[in-house]
Amino acid sequence: MAGRNLIIFGPPGAGKGTQAPRLAAEFGLPHVATGDMFRAHQREGTALGLRAKAYMEAGELVPDTLVIEMLVERIGQADAADGFLLDGFPRTVAQAVALDVELAANGSRIDALLVLDVTEEDVVTRISGRLVCANGHVFHETFSPPAVAAVCDTCGLALARRADDEPDVVRNRYRNVYLAQTAPVRDHYTALGVPALDVDGTGSTDAVYERLRTALQRP
Ligand code: AMP
Repeated sequence: MAGRNLIIFGPPGAGKGTQAPRLAAEFGLPHVATGDMFRAHQREGTALGLRAKAYMEAGELVPDTLVIEMLVERIGQADAADGFLLDGFPRTVAQAVALDVELAANGSRIDALLVLDVTEEDVVTRISGRLVCANGHVFHETFSPPAVAAVCDTCGLALARRADDEPDVVRNRYRNVYLAQTAPVRDHYTALGVPALDVDGTGSTDAVYERLRTALQRP
């Protein structure tokens, strides 16, 4: 398979968070997701969680220095010594450079990017179709609708679309955050000769997963 320091890459809504835990488990790599780490900090009420909160709620990137420090600490832990699957990091070229410097200090590097290819329209359909209740149970208008329209199957509360999942907001985030700030990370790695393994991110969860496995197992 491709080397062991991997990045799963693609816009929010591409399916990274769905695919990465399964892939990491199968390949024996820790799944390192910076969004999950920030959410854990918020649940625990840490200073970092508080600082990240406003950015996350606005759909903006948390400042590089905060993310980099948290990530470097995480990949320094013993379970990441033989590789990791990064999910949601790096999201800027500055983050990628900081990661490369950190890895190089240990004689290591990023081995490959697994890229989930989806269009802007796919992203808008996926994200703006999401419905959540006040307890955080998630449904989807098209892909996993509730039994009764606009009512949570689990707790019976009303389902609604989150303000930051409105189509205009999703499009704005795709163009001004993903295309403008994150997409250049791929070019950064291409320039360094790191392979980007493109995978069609459309279709069922299982179909996408099989494509990812195949891409990783290719010599
Ligand atoms: P995610 O769960 O990966 O979609 O991340 C949720 C939110 O956390 C993002 O919208 C950002 O506000 C923040 N975040 C996660 N990872 C990063 C990162 N690498 N750089 C900046 N902000 C991040």
